[in-house]
Amino acid sequence: SRPAYFVGPWDLHRDLACVPASPSDGTVVFVESIAKSRALPYHRKKLVLVLSAMRHFAEELRAEGFDVSIIRAGTYVEGITEHVTAKGSSELIAMMPREQGLQQALLAAQANNIFGVPVVLHDDGGEGGHFLLTREEVSAWMRERKVIRMHHFYAWMRKRTGYLMEDGKPAGGKYSFDSDNRKPPSDARPEAAKGHAPDAITRAAMREVAGWDGFFGDVDGFDWPVTRKDALRELEDFFETRAERFGPFQDAMITDEPYLWHTRIAAAMNLSLLSPREVCERVARAHREGVMPLSSAEGLLRQILGWREFIRGVYWHRMPDMRSANLLKAKRPLPQLYWEPESTDLRCLQQSAGQVRDTGYAHHIQRLMVLGNFALLIGVAPIELSHWFWAAFVDAYEWVQLPNVHGMALFADDTFTTKPYAASGSYIHKMSDYCKDCRYNVKKRTGEDACPFNSLFWRFMAQHRERLSKNPRLRMLYRTWDKFGDDEQHAIQTQAQAFLDTLEPATHDWTFNDDQC
Ligand code: SF4
Repeated sequence: SRPAYFVGPWDLHRDLACVPASPSDGTVVFVESIAKSRALPYHRKKLVLVLSAMRHFAEELRAEGFDVSIIRAGTYVEGITEHVTAKGSSELIAMMPREQGLQQALLAAQANNIFGVPVVLHDDGGEGGHFLLTREEVSAWMRERKVIRMHHFYAWMRKRTGYLMEDGKPAGGKYSFDSDNRKPPSDARPEAAKGHAPDAITRAAMREVAGWDGFFGDVDGFDWPVTRKDALRELEDFFETRAERFGPFQDAMITDEPYLWHTRIAAAMNLSLLSPREVCERVARAHREGVMPLSSAEGLLRQILGWREFIRGVYWHRMPDMRSANLLKAKRPLPQLYWEPESTDLRCLQQSAGQVRDTGYAHHIQRLMVLGNFALLIGVAPIELSHWFWAAFVDAYEWVQLPNVHGMALFADDTFTTKPYAASGSYIHKMSDYCKDCRYNVKKRTGEDACPFNSLFWRFMAQHRERLSKNPRLRMLYRTWDKFGDDEQHAIQTQAQAFLDTLEPATHDWTFNDDQC
């Protein structure tokens, strides 16, 4: 009898320790868990992506002579147990899952001897893992610090890996070129991303998922990479057409342009079709070869080497408490406009949420400064926004969306931030072309056509004055608020409240089930 290797839905890479090196080493099992697929009202394109990528990887292994089973089962544990029993396996080999739900399920099954064989769980980072750091390496870094800050972590990672370093110093004399990378939109447009036409396996998944009731978005126009070959092609397409301008324009938002100069690789990378190390190496090479100026290369490196590894560390550092974190005691239900973008007349929200509904994607500034910022200002209960991000984005899993939503967008958890990313309409006006076609006037705080972001922003700042005014970076702002005087302050509050009264709460009838798998 031989070991059984469980390849999780996000473990789709030959170098991971959950994939046998040769067919004689053991059997391979993939599970399509019915419970997991019904835990949230996922975007249909995300369901197609995960199913198609998993089935493609299974086919690749089969073609090389591996004994591969794809089992559709009630849960992951049931599917694995069915395989181990049918094959008479000697042991079960898997990766430590990236989400708490599956990790708990596997550890509980192991403790209760559900599989009936010994279980080996490999670290999802370091040698044989996906991330650059092992769980213990990133956890030790966080445990040893009084304050956890991304820029400290990133500098540590740069020194540790040597990417974009020269004689032990950061290339260009500083670790971050973020301040050079905030160019507002201009008339420039990148070449459109080439995308990936669905093949027979993807088309079959599209037909299947199109018939599933109650999920978000639709399958039409699916063009995400579903194989390693496609993912590498997507990466090269980025270097050929968009890499040069990625940095300067990475915060810009332009009507009907969901991708701009962004890479489109997060969905593939989060399924392990690309490894973070190879992407970092490719970025460093593009800079050496003069394809990518330092500001662009550093910007992308910071997202992968810095932010992505950091966020995964924060997730495990703060779980399980992070899910219930709610520093600002926000409790408004998520508005229906997130699920139904056509129902709002705020152009920036319509555009950003509309892109998510159409593609399963929006870039980081749309996520943080439009979709996140709006929820922050109106006081959406953190877990409600977090569930939407988790369900709606093709690249979102709990490990990545929860620290981003709770820790960054909503300031529900202050593990790594000192103040909320709250902004009025003027930020959106500066960084996008949305306001020119909006029915609201971004310059106005009050009046029938005043931009709702403005009154909501001041209402939010006034509401949380006690906590936020202690932050020296916000003192000036409170001085401005005080200068408004009573009448103006009252008018702003009334304006904000009148807007809030118009918001319809989400009407879906889903029970969200964070750990169900
Ligand atoms: Fe958004 Fe206000 Fe600009 Fe309209 S005017 S797009 S609501 S920021």
